[in-house]
Amino acid sequence: MAVYDYVCNDCDKSFEQTLTLQEHDGKKIRCPHCGGIHVQQAAAAFYAVTSKKSA
Ligand SMILES: [Zn+2]
Repeated sequence: MAVYDYVCNDCDKSFEQTLTLQEHDGKKIRCPHCGGIHVQQAAAAFYAVTSKKSA
């Protein structure tokens, strides 16, 4: 599981999703704020997550 950062193109808000690799590959991500499907993954989110240690 990894945490992915997304930005919604519909309402312009960002959010995080915790997904398995399979989900990340195949799942349609919906914005939790407006329910829109026009979301895009924020760049470099993966590195931000892995660089900080979570207990
Ligand atoms: Zn939205």
